[in-house]
Amino acid sequence: MRADFPILRTLAHGKPLVYLDNGATTQKPQIVIDATDTYYSRENSNIHRGVYELSQLATTLYEESRIKIQKFINAAESREVIYTKGTTDSINLVASSLGRSTLKPGDEVLISHMEHHSNIVPWQLICEQTGAMLKVIPINEAGELIFEEFEKLLSPRTKIVSVVHVSNSLGTINPVKQIIDLAHKQGAVVLIDGAQWVAHGPTDVQALDCDFYAFSGHKIFGPTGIGILYGKAKLLDAMPPYQGGGDMISNVTFEKTTYNDLPYKFEAGTPNIAGGIVLGTAIDYVSNIGLEKIAAYEAELLAYAQARLAEIPGVRLIGTAKKKASVMSFITSGVHPHDLGVLLDLEGIAVRTGHHCCQPVMDRFHIPATARASMAAYNTRDDIDRFLAAVRKVTASYTPRPAQSAAPSSSNGKILFPPAVAESPEAAAQELLDNFDMLGDWQTRYQYLIEMGGKLPPMPKELKTDTTRVHGCQSVVHLYSQRDPKDKQVFNFIADSDADIVRGLIAILERLYAGQKADAVAKFDVETFFKEIGLDQHLSGGRRNGLSSMVSRIRTEAAEKV
Ligand code: PMP
Repeated sequence: MRADFPILRTLAHGKPLVYLDNGATTQKPQIVIDATDTYYSRENSNIHRGVYELSQLATTLYEESRIKIQKFINAAESREVIYTKGTTDSINLVASSLGRSTLKPGDEVLISHMEHHSNIVPWQLICEQTGAMLKVIPINEAGELIFEEFEKLLSPRTKIVSVVHVSNSLGTINPVKQIIDLAHKQGAVVLIDGAQWVAHGPTDVQALDCDFYAFSGHKIFGPTGIGILYGKAKLLDAMPPYQGGGDMISNVTFEKTTYNDLPYKFEAGTPNIAGGIVLGTAIDYVSNIGLEKIAAYEAELLAYAQARLAEIPGVRLIGTAKKKASVMSFITSGVHPHDLGVLLDLEGIAVRTGHHCCQPVMDRFHIPATARASMAAYNTRDDIDRFLAAVRKVTASYTPRPAQSAAPSSSNGKILFPPAVAESPEAAAQELLDNFDMLGDWQTRYQYLIEMGGKLPPMPKELKTDTTRVHGCQSVVHLYSQRDPKDKQVFNFIADSDADIVRGLIAILERLYAGQKADAVAKFDVETFFKEIGLDQHLSGGRRNGLSSMVSRIRTEAAEKV
């Protein structure tokens, strides 16, 4: 299987790529890449509209793919398979259409504590609009749904139950069949978020008897921007359209519009035609390998990986459910997950770090983030061994920065602001550019940044308040500023974060701005500096946004605080 994925033969930071971020998205086999090429080279045209041969070809391929997907999830009819943009879009469709048209004050929507934000926020929006209540099934320390609490929360008021099949942040496989059966006894409709399941085991929507099932193409070796909503025909038939536009209508006059039949009623506008067709190719690909076989292989890989990861000193697994898919979320005692992610990347290993769009899960475990290795069927023991060796190396060699009390930036209640390091931000920028030039490659530069972060004095605890919190960063960031009492023109600030890589960026900002005149802070062209130094290109999008948030906070405070 591995040989089918060209990207797995590439290098990351000069080392063979070990891709363990399959929970975020899977890589694509050559057959899927070729199918995309073939579509645009030979089959492209709009569907359901043209009388000419090419349009009929594209329409046939698109509809044939729908039938493949129907068979893949064992839906009773192909009109029960609706193309969407992905899981998020599928859930929003149900929340908007079914939720808005049926929920009323006093009704309840039941979700679990381990949901992805995409299975929380659409329901919150609809509850706000309809007056229904959102209820949450709690989870235990292992990250399993507490079934007795679920039973207690269920009542005739429960109209919709929407739960995840496999948790992306914990790996827990939920007992969805039992959930569906119990919810049905109370007359509730059940949606299953199958984003993390479909590529890891067989799916049979009729055996499950779920009312809706949502998944994304890109998590099952297919393209991005395409996904599926399965729904029972009798429910979909009764639901109003989600969006209006071309293709979803039967007849339009200014007085009245009638709608098309299923599934087109829910497919307004020109869809992702290539995506739909190529998703069929991806489905063929996994079906030929066999989902049973994939499930057995991944279970063995997980058992191998998880036992060894847990043995590494300082590692704590988050999510230790008895039934787990191939996801390992973990934290280490010394290294912040974001720093771990950057250091593993330097070893050629791609893992995800952060809250994984599951902030309530992080809150439940009282942690800001985890590192997550999520496996797919093409991962091997060799990948796992390299990952484990890198985690060992990083955690063993990493010197955690001093505890909060060791070197605070305050003394006797007085805050010790860092002084200016050069006569202007421009001069400080030049020094930084020279330093970075000497460091050479980005591997060394990252290490330098993390070291700089490690040396940054911690911010006094009492200054870490809601007011000093800088929003828009992936990590927790606080920034406190003041004009110098001796010279009101001078802008002083300190900042801090829980991740050393972010502290490294703060150290750069301190060199540029701390102790400088407020008007010089305003004038300095930091964007050009970020480009020149390469941060613009080498930081992840999320971290670049975080850096921009810190810069705009510094500029605002420099302009305001007199
Ligand atoms: N639910 C779960 C459990 C997920 O893991 C994800 C993706 N991380 C989603 C929903 C959202 O999927 P998409 O971004 O493809 O819409």
